[in-house]
Amino acid sequence: MWDRRRDDSIYPKLMTVSVVRGRTGEIEYFLANFVDISSYKDAEQRIDHIARHDALTGLPNRLHLQTYLEQSLLIARRMSEQVCVMFLDLDRFKNVNDTLGHGAGDILLIQTAKRLKSSVREYDMVARLGGDEFVVVLRGHEMVAVASKVAETIRQQLNSPFHIDKHVLRTATSIGISLFPDDSLTMADMMKQADTAMYFAKSVGGNGFRFFAPDMDAHAHDKLELENLLYDAIELQQFELYYQPQLSIPDQTLVGAEVLLRWIHPDKGFISPAVFIPLAETTNQIGRIGEWVLENACLQASEWLRQGLPVGRIGVNISARQFLHSNLYELVQRVLLSTGLPAENLELELTETAVTTSPQEAASLLQALRKEGIKIALDDFGQGYSSLAQLKDMPLDRLKIDAAFVWDINDRQGEKGGVIAAATIGLGHALGFQVIAEGVETEAQLAFLVAHACDEVQGYYFAKPMPRQAFEEYLRKHMKAV
Ligand code: C2E
Ligand code: CA
Ligand code: CA
Repeated sequence: MWDRRRDDSIYPKLMTVSVVRGRTGEIEYFLANFVDISSYKDAEQRIDHIARHDALTGLPNRLHLQTYLEQSLLIARRMSEQVCVMFLDLDRFKNVNDTLGHGAGDILLIQTAKRLKSSVREYDMVARLGGDEFVVVLRGHEMVAVASKVAETIRQQLNSPFHIDKHVLRTATSIGISLFPDDSLTMADMMKQADTAMYFAKSVGGNGFRFFAPDMDAHAHDKLELENLLYDAIELQQFELYYQPQLSIPDQTLVGAEVLLRWIHPDKGFISPAVFIPLAETTNQIGRIGEWVLENACLQASEWLRQGLPVGRIGVNISARQFLHSNLYELVQRVLLSTGLPAENLELELTETAVTTSPQEAASLLQALRKEGIKIALDDFGQGYSSLAQLKDMPLDRLKIDAAFVWDINDRQGEKGGVIAAATIGLGHALGFQVIAEGVETEAQLAFLVAHACDEVQGYYFAKPMPRQAFEEYLRKHMKAV
């Protein structure tokens, strides 16, 4: 019961009352026994608060958010209102933690929480899910307009610089929005949709908001995770180089090997370069990764040559973006110098996109590289749209017939199967280039290529890409056979 102290303050007390009776059963006394339980009540409230709030920022936590959102949906249903759930994630928060330490990261989160609170009305909810993830819940009408306005306010609020220690930090946030009842009717679905929309906002560059749409890539989440894992792959030594032999025909002597990058992740297993190379390109990591490949491939080849293993030339793939945006000439120079690999033993495999984007610049860069003795191959030839006029003036050593045109050979011999492969060989020779066919898998394909005077071949029919040791054994065997 509630009682009043002498100083007039009110307090809760726990009271037990018992009856004391006389001989005949009549009531003689009431015996009251009481304890002031205000400290228990306080503790209980504190515990409840702690259980429902995030210790760092003081914002409601996931548990609190869930009960609140559940209630909001009930009320909204009764009042025919809308509810909006916004998922927020700071862009590149990890960088702050990594470079300035967790202390600075914590301060950034606290200040972010403050700015979020100040961006919404008092009765809107801002919660922290953990890490750099926050959720905002709004209720009312005209939610598309309201949510857009609030999201834009938040975006601007978080864009203005943070002062932490002596640093001035700039952050940005990606926001995903889901609406009740427009997008979904249940809390679980709303959370999932807002999350998907958030990853979508992030994947298109961040620093912005997106409303959930059914056609959003539900895999955006996975992609972002992969992007983050890729970031650490070099340091954690998850990359390995594989080597696939290239042979001259018809004598089938080894002339070189293509270097193919492999990413072996301890949990995710083998991840194909067809997946992670494009990802590395769009996330600006291809420069670092390409450099790692070039350095390690040249080091390995140089080592083989020192051991007397005749590896020939090694073909390193250079992605279009790497070719267009890095100082390739200097990089190659420096790597050859530091690894001691003769320039003649290095071939760069470029795609048509790389050389045709700005053909004149490409031509002079290739010319400079070739002057040093480095070989240039045009990869996946036939897939792109290089005009023959451009091709004619391009300083190349080799055309690489795309595997698709090689696979075309066995299927439709009678009806034009292999015509493109044959034409490419003719064209390449006419322009003074050598021609190599990749993806050769069958004897029929090989016979066709030999008949059409293709210079070199590469493919599973001869050997698959192999890790270092297996390729060394291959080299040794090949030496004996010759
Ligand atoms: P690519 O340059 O066209 O490489 C040839 C691909 O065909 C390789 O796939 C190789 O393993 C595969 N291959 C070779 N012979 C055969 C065959 O007979 N049959 C079939 N079905 N496939 C064959 P991989 O290693 O998965 O590489 C895929 C792509 O990833 C490469 O295509 C290349 O574009 C890229 N890539 C791989 N390593 C690197 C790298 O170090 N740097 C860059 N920039 N790109 C790389
Ligand atoms: Ca290649
Ligand atoms: Ca290729």
